[in-house]
Amino acid sequence: MLEVTDLWVSYGGIAAVRGVDLTVAKGSLVALIGSNGAGKSTTLNTIAGLTKSRKGTVTFHGENVTGRPAHRLVRAGLALVPEGRMVAAPLTVAENLRQAGYSKRLSTSDFAREYERVLSLFPVLGKRSAQIAGSLSGGEQQMLALGRALLTGPDLLLLDEPSMGLAPVMVDTVFDAIRAIHAGGMTILLVEQNAELATEVCDEAVVLQRGEVLVRGRGRDVLEDETLRAAFLA
Ligand code: ATP
Repeated sequence: MLEVTDLWVSYGGIAAVRGVDLTVAKGSLVALIGSNGAGKSTTLNTIAGLTKSRKGTVTFHGENVTGRPAHRLVRAGLALVPEGRMVAAPLTVAENLRQAGYSKRLSTSDFAREYERVLSLFPVLGKRSAQIAGSLSGGEQQMLALGRALLTGPDLLLLDEPSMGLAPVMVDTVFDAIRAIHAGGMTILLVEQNAELATEVCDEAVVLQRGEVLVRGRGRDVLEDETLRAAFLA
């Protein structure tokens, strides 16, 4: 479904992503892991059309979408849950979800169906529908961010550090939801600094180090090499 080939991204002449290749097959969950500054978010943001690449191609559904702006990628079926969640803090939970429906130009009936589906996955969002998003807990905001992305009816979900800043119990809740979304057939590319957690849920893990792919492997297998552990858990 997604193919990234020889991706290079620079910030002011400094290469943050250096020749990354990545394949995410339909229905799979691929985790991009690695230490701080390894280039995980940059890779994700470039795929999502928020950052420009210097070189390389991004192919989505067999079509070259390199450099295509984010709003057009959303309509093509790609949804990003950004680092830090970025919910619209002054708006209510329901308004945040409605906004996502607008961005995909969903009809009223399609929106109602998708809205119900999101609420069945995250009942807490139904209970808090009239609450201002900025007053939710971090975990609830993460669920809202996930729900908002799902409402656009994506084929591919890009998740940036969903565990960041959450209490352990909320991390479990959010990862249970990610497992459920994946089990429902969703294709997911997950960026996660918590390698233990990411490798528990993923089909394939890709380890980045200083902008390059260091190694890739099946789920927890990549964590078994001690040298590797030292390299990216440092
Ligand atoms: P983290 O978990 O800390 O977000 P990461 O693996 O996602 O790490 P990136 O955020 O992609 O890493 O950063 C890769 C490199 O690019 C780092 O050296 C970072 O300092 C640099 N970088 C990221 N964003 C910018 C920016 N907007 N301007 C300049 N340099 C940047």
